[in-house]
Amino acid sequence: MKTWMTTLLLLCFLSPFYTSAQSPVDQHGKLSVDGNKILDKSNNPVSLVGMSLFWSNTNWGGEEFYTEEVVDWLIEDWEITVIRAAMGVDENGGYLSDASNKDRVKKIVDKAIETGIYVIIDWHSHHAHDYEQDAIDFFEEMAEAYGDYPNVIYEIYNEPMQISWANTIKPYAESVIEAIRAIDPDNLIIVGNPTWSQDVDIVSQDPIEGQINIAYTLHFYAATHGQYLRDKAKAALDNGIALFVTEWGTVSANGDGAVDEAETAAWMDFLCEHAIGHCNWALNDKPEGASVLKEGASPLGGWSANDLTTSGVLVKEIIKDWCLSVDSEQVYPQKRVKIYPNPSENTIQVNLGYYNLYKGLSLRNIEGRIVKSIDADFDQKEIEIDLSDLKAGIYFLHVNGPDNQLVKKIIKL
Ligand code: MG
Repeated sequence: MKTWMTTLLLLCFLSPFYTSAQSPVDQHGKLSVDGNKILDKSNNPVSLVGMSLFWSNTNWGGEEFYTEEVVDWLIEDWEITVIRAAMGVDENGGYLSDASNKDRVKKIVDKAIETGIYVIIDWHSHHAHDYEQDAIDFFEEMAEAYGDYPNVIYEIYNEPMQISWANTIKPYAESVIEAIRAIDPDNLIIVGNPTWSQDVDIVSQDPIEGQINIAYTLHFYAATHGQYLRDKAKAALDNGIALFVTEWGTVSANGDGAVDEAETAAWMDFLCEHAIGHCNWALNDKPEGASVLKEGASPLGGWSANDLTTSGVLVKEIIKDWCLSVDSEQVYPQKRVKIYPNPSENTIQVNLGYYNLYKGLSLRNIEGRIVKSIDADFDQKEIEIDLSDLKAGIYFLHVNGPDNQLVKKIIKL
């Protein structure tokens, strides 16, 4: 079994994010909510990114991926900073009829703590308000076990259906939050809302009062939900509540169909711009569009490109390129910038993404000395940089934008 240290050795060389020997939780520490932002221990907005596991229900197929090896692989190869354990509750094979679901969740939580990533404990139900006392009992147990770990995030109601926020969901949430807070005064709690966690604008007019570190769930599926849902999310942000996309898909809301690349890109820009964290649905090999793995992929990680679905290829790229690297004086988010191939022997391509905001790049060596300055036009999106005259080693590409500076690690072979 890999330890964090062996993972770190790899990450130090391969990842632009792990520029020092720190796990995501080492770096960001205890999360808090201030207005419409989730902040890290340094009070910088933080946008966590990762995968949601599939329903944990026994014999549904997705439960086989609740392994330590999957967590290790997603950290090492996908550079996730958060994972979501989606504990099925009331449906067939769920926690209420089969306690092994809880063991699956705890295995993932324990591994997240060991490896230093964040973990969402998700009460994955469409009817959670019908099982309020079960939810209270469960989250009290989780808060007792894990409330002192900054890694842990509680998600108390995955997706309510079209029921009342004020009369049904909010009272449920207040009861469960009160029970958690009696044990754990501070870890982040994420609250679901009507219409499969899309009515964040309604919630923002009547948010939970008198509790700290509360954020609200936003779910979308790119091939179904477009600008109108981003408008609702923007209204919620403008009203001052914080959002966390604990689940989203590149495909249709039924979890199937084709990947909608254009709408996915529009959503990712929105999430990046507003520093909203997200977990993709789902880390599973069920033969449907939303799965990132092809049927029969190993439950021990180690997946090659051939093991990934169309959605999986895109989602891995999004996670690895997520806007996390940041200049010390600047807050999140950074716009996404892609660099490939990296590592490289001769040239690298820099793709400045959907924005035309950056100009002026410099390549610096590990001591911080500029070894190359590259001029770019304001609207130039693709820039090629010649590395052939440089010694092999680690360099840092500094991309200067109008308001901030992005730093990405480059490996010259
Ligand atoms: Mg705590």
